[in-house]
Amino acid sequence: MGEILGRQTTALGEQISYDAASQCSRCGYCLQACPTYVATGRESFSGRGRNQIVRMLMEGRISRPREAEDALSTCLLCGACTLACYARIPTADLVLEGRRAIQGHPSFPAVFLTRLLAHRPRIFRRLLKWAYALKRTGLPRLLGPLLDFAGLQALAEAERAAPRPPRFFLREKLEAAPPMARPPWFYFAACGPDYLYPEVGLSTFALLERGLGRGRFLQNGCCGLFSYNYGRLEDARALAERHIESLEKAGNGAHPSGEPAPLAADCSSCAAFLKSYPRLFPPNSPWRGRAERFSSRVRDIVELLPDLELPTAQTPAPAKATYHESCRARNGEGLAPPSPFLKRISGDAFQELPESEVCCGGAGLFAFRHPELSDQILRRKIGKIAESGAKIVLTSSTSCLLQLARGLAKYYPQARAVHISVYASERIHGPPTGS
Ligand code: SF4
Ligand code: SF4
Repeated sequence: MGEILGRQTTALGEQISYDAASQCSRCGYCLQACPTYVATGRESFSGRGRNQIVRMLMEGRISRPREAEDALSTCLLCGACTLACYARIPTADLVLEGRRAIQGHPSFPAVFLTRLLAHRPRIFRRLLKWAYALKRTGLPRLLGPLLDFAGLQALAEAERAAPRPPRFFLREKLEAAPPMARPPWFYFAACGPDYLYPEVGLSTFALLERGLGRGRFLQNGCCGLFSYNYGRLEDARALAERHIESLEKAGNGAHPSGEPAPLAADCSSCAAFLKSYPRLFPPNSPWRGRAERFSSRVRDIVELLPDLELPTAQTPAPAKATYHESCRARNGEGLAPPSPFLKRISGDAFQELPESEVCCGGAGLFAFRHPELSDQILRRKIGKIAESGAKIVLTSSTSCLLQLARGLAKYYPQARAVHISVYASERIHGPPTGS
C-alpha cells in the first residue's frame, strides 16, 4: 500500500479518512452534481458510490478490485459532490486516498515526472526545451506512435493535444527583472503559465503592476499538485516546505493594507492546492502553523482582479464573452465567478454561461486517460457555450484552457478559450508586453 494522508477536512472538522468516508448517509443529494454520474447513470461513478468503495477498500471488503479501480480512476476530482453534500464529505480527497491505496506504487512515468519536478526542476526544464524544439521540427508526429507503442497512450494523446510550444518559459522573463526588496505582492508561477502559456503570467504581472505597483516573482517550482494527485505525498510535502521557506525568507512585503503581501497565482488548480498546504502536515508538526501562515497569503487571480484599481477599458469589447468556472476555484477555493468585474470591463458583451459551474472534463490527464467519458462531458459544456453565442470563453485554470480549446476546435470553432488575465489585460492596456 502507498502512503496515505490519513486525515480529511469535513464539516465536523479534521477526521481520520475512514470516519470521513463513513459519514456518508447515502442520501444521494450529490448524485446530480456529479458529472460522471450524470454522463453514465452508474452508481459507482457517483460521489455516493465512490465513498462506499473507498470505505470498503479501507475495510478490506473489496471483492472486485478492477471495478473499484474503474470507479476511482474515473473521478474528475472536481469536488462538486462535496459542495452538494450537507456533511461536506471530501469525496475527491477520499478517492485519492483510495487510488494511493490501490496503486501502492504509481506508474513509472508518474514517478519519473513527479521526481523531476520536485527534485530536479532544471533537468525537467531542459528536457521540456528539447521536447519543444523537437515539436517545432514536426517530428513529434513520430513521437505519438512511439509513446503509443510504449503503452503511454495518455502521454501520446497529451502530446497531440498540446498547444504550440512557447518560445520561452515565463520564468525566463520574470527572472530578468531586478527583484523588489519590499514588494506589495508576490507572484507564484504555476506550471501552466510557466511552461505552456507565458502570456498568462505576463498579463497577470501587467495587471497587478498597474493596480498595486511593482511586485516580485517568488522563483518557485511546481506547487506539488501533480505529485499529490499521482500518489507521491513525500514529493508534494518537499515542494510545500520549499515554498513556505521561500515566502518566509521573502518577508511580508509592503501591501498598502499593511497586511502581509499576497502571493498571487493565476492557475486556479495551483492556487487551490497552495491554499491546502496545511493538510499535508499532521496537526502536531512544526510545519503545520507555517503552512497555515503561507496559505493565508495565497490569492487566486480570480479574487485579486476585482479589487484592483484598474482604468476602464477604452474600446468596446471585441466579441461576446462568457465565463467557465474552474472546479478548483469554485469547489476547492469557494470562489464566486468574477461576473461584476467582467461586466465592468466588457459591458453588455459579457454574459453568464448556463451551467458554468459544471466541470469541462479536463482534470489534468483525465481527458487523455478516459477520452470517451471526458468527451461526453466536454460536448455538453461546448453545447452550452454554443447556445450562449459567445465567441470568447474565459476561464482561470490551465487544465480548463486546454480542454476548452480542444472542445471548441472540435465542436464550435467560432469561439476560442482565453485566460481571464489575458483578456483583462488586453481590455485594459492592449496585448501583454514581451509576448
Ligand atoms: S469529485 Fe466530481 S467526479 Fe468525483 S465523485 Fe465528486 S462530483 Fe463526481
Ligand atoms: S456524499 Fe454526502 S450528499 Fe452524497 S450520498 Fe453521501 S452524504 Fe449524501
